Amino acid sequence: MLRYCYPPSKSLRSYLVSKWIHEKKLILEAALKMLEKGMVAGTSGNISVRLSPEHGPELLAITPTSRYYDLLTPDDIPVIDFKARPIEGKLQPSSESFLHIDIYRARDDVGAIIHTHSVYASAMAAARLAIPPILDEQLAILGGKVDLAKYAPSGTRELARKAVAALKDRNAVLLMNHGLVGVGKDLREAFTVCEVVEKAAQVFYLCSTMGRVNPLPEIDVRPNRLSSKKTPRD
Ligand SMILES: [Zn+2]
Repeated sequence: MLRYCYPPSKSLRSYLVSKWIHEKKLILEAALKMLEKGMVAGTSGNISVRLSPEHGPELLAITPTSRYYDLLTPDDIPVIDFKARPIEGKLQPSSESFLHIDIYRARDDVGAIIHTHSVYASAMAAARLAIPPILDEQLAILGGKVDLAKYAPSGTRELARKAVAALKDRNAVLLMNHGLVGVGKDLREAFTVCEVVEKAAQVFYLCSTMGRVNPLPEIDVRPNRLSSKKTPRD
């Protein structure tokens, strides 16, 4: 005869499937793709998804700190609340958790966030240059120019505050001497944002070597909010 006890014992808990297992799998898939595409090296970068429980506080699932992505399983993705307190998982959440939390607090339309160190975006951030709107797809996908957040050390609340201030209602921001943050309504959108920023940074660099950077006129820059039902342009 089976006996039940509550709360579940530690051994039983290890067999229980998280109700956020789908989101955790998506985060891990995106992390591995980010690694394969060379957008990060080693354990750098971080990815989160906003979890919206019907009742209770807002939560997020986020990659753990200082862990190689290819050695993780979905169960290794921690869940935390908006004060960065642990809700689920054994590993420490990303040291940039407040960067993610403060963006979710400021932007109701954001459901996923990816922070990368991709090469050309990092070069722009290290040169301390914003990316002007030079490609048509920047308008639709990024909301135009990619601004540069003022410098603050990694993992600090100051970095989170400066990133939120520079992001405004756009979908990407460069972190001075550091990297890039892309946001979207889901992970697919946030990933596309990061790819388009990297491409725009690379095209900006190539145009600079030709001495011909031609930003689009300011009047053509129309931020396209993520909640829009518009079909993405080809
Ligand atoms: Zn970083």
